[in-house]
Amino acid sequence: MKYLKFDDQLNQYISKHNNQDDDLLKELRELTYQKTGRRMMISPDQAQFFRTLLALIKPKKILEIGVFTGYSSTVMARSVPDDTRIVACDISEEWTAIAKEFWIKANIDHKISLRLGNANQTLSDLIDSDNISTFDMAFIDADKISYDSYFEKAYQLLKPGGTIIIDNVLWKGTVADPERIDDDITALRQLNDKLAADPRVQSTLLPIGDGMLMIAKL
Ligand code: SAM
Ligand code: CA
Repeated sequence: MKYLKFDDQLNQYISKHNNQDDDLLKELRELTYQKTGRRMMISPDQAQFFRTLLALIKPKKILEIGVFTGYSSTVMARSVPDDTRIVACDISEEWTAIAKEFWIKANIDHKISLRLGNANQTLSDLIDSDNISTFDMAFIDADKISYDSYFEKAYQLLKPGGTIIIDNVLWKGTVADPERIDDDITALRQLNDKLAADPRVQSTLLPIGDGMLMIAKL
């Protein structure tokens, strides 16, 4: 067999082995659904990917684009030393209020600097204020229409050898179905096509969660 078939049984097996979430993270996931009615955060097995990645690359400066209620930022902040800083961008005061509550509860709030506003503007402000080539890692997980712009700005902010992770690039598999067309699918397809052929980076499409691109800035 050339490819693995991800049926429910295999997915459950993988999820069971790729889950280190504790009670605080379980509480955050449950409370998020109660308060927002949405499940927009990365999955526990994606969280485990980040724990492993962060243990490898030991970043000092991380950029997160798309905070929501703080699940991914809490996982990241708990996986880095005390002097690592996360610049966390989101436009929603309501959702990030829940994030702030959990950052305090997890005793990681000193590692995270929240930038409320349109992330396109926040990234331009970072570029204009001496942050070019200073970040070790970026995680892009906000509105899909702006992904290309977020990538280009994050690329400028990243050090050579730095990593960009982009979430939801398989968009429930729709990117591979020529009959499915909408603005999000088109934006994701164009970005996947561009990065597969971009000489500035090495990138890999990983079938974890809803699909993640793992990119190295050369
Ligand atoms: N990374 C989070 C996690 O895994 O826990 C989930 C992020 S959620 C999928 C996307 C977030 O992007 C939402 O919280 C939304 O408010 C934010 N967002 C949408 N458009 C934005 C924009 N233009 N600028 C900044 N944030 C935006
Ligand atoms: Ca996502």
